[in-house]
Amino acid sequence: MKVFKFGGASVKDATAVKNMSSINQKNQASPLVVIVSAMAKTTNALENLLALTMAEEDTTGAFIQLKAFHSGIVKELAIDHDEELDKFLNQTYEDLQNHLSKFSSSLGYDYIYDQTVSTGELLSTKIIATYLNHNQIPTSWLDARKVVKTDMVHRAARVDWGATQNFIRSHVSQLKDQGIVISQGFIGSNAKFDTTTLGREGSDFTGAIFATALSAESLTIWKDVPGELNADPKKFADTKKYDQLPYKEAAEMTYYGASVIHPKTIKPLAQKDIPLYVKSFE
Ligand code: ASP
Ligand code: MG
Repeated sequence: MKVFKFGGASVKDATAVKNMSSINQKNQASPLVVIVSAMAKTTNALENLLALTMAEEDTTGAFIQLKAFHSGIVKELAIDHDEELDKFLNQTYEDLQNHLSKFSSSLGYDYIYDQTVSTGELLSTKIIATYLNHNQIPTSWLDARKVVKTDMVHRAARVDWGATQNFIRSHVSQLKDQGIVISQGFIGSNAKFDTTTLGREGSDFTGAIFATALSAESLTIWKDVPGELNADPKKFADTKKYDQLPYKEAAEMTYYGASVIHPKTIKPLAQKDIPLYVKSFE
């Protein structure tokens, strides 16, 4: 069993989705779990949609943009005639609108935030799963909210490790013989089955949660940078490249602010001795 994680940049458009699909196809042999973020800057777009809603400004344009961005990718992937996908997308947009309409209710900002931003990962994973299935790469779509269980905190929920590990193991063991299992990074659910999120950029951590629960052979984070880097390549020109890092060094690196891997990712992997690879997407 291997776990792959693809971030927003790795699924930023149809070309990227095709590229990540062929990476997955090449690795189909070993049971494979694939964790995916929202496409490109979708989470930011959803935060913006919520901000407009809170300010009681017109959200029509932002909504149209969100839909057009995803339907453009769906069209380019030639899966725009898939009825099930179409139904799912429409339902997801409808749910989003319903959540946004409750912005001034007693449910609170953080609750609405999680119901809003989680939309990005639901859209991306369903689109990608549909594309893979249309291209003879059998894939099951797993709703991360069924397995990643958290406390009641919104926007920075803490994982209930016991329940989460049990749910991941049982769901993945049922699905893994039918092909790739694809699920969402960043999102989970609490005891009331309300959607929660693990904090911005939390999909790496989800990858580690799945890898740990499944005692995976390895976790591979596919990035738009060459190999593992010891600093943020956007800030430093002379970053060094590693293919595999000792945990301690990786933990220190993320601790000291290199924005390559989410800081919470390392610890659970280290505890189970699961190798972490950071591989270049290109
Ligand atoms: N989509 C979420 C974010 O942009 C989670 C992630 O990308 O890791 O924060
Ligand atoms: Mg993201």
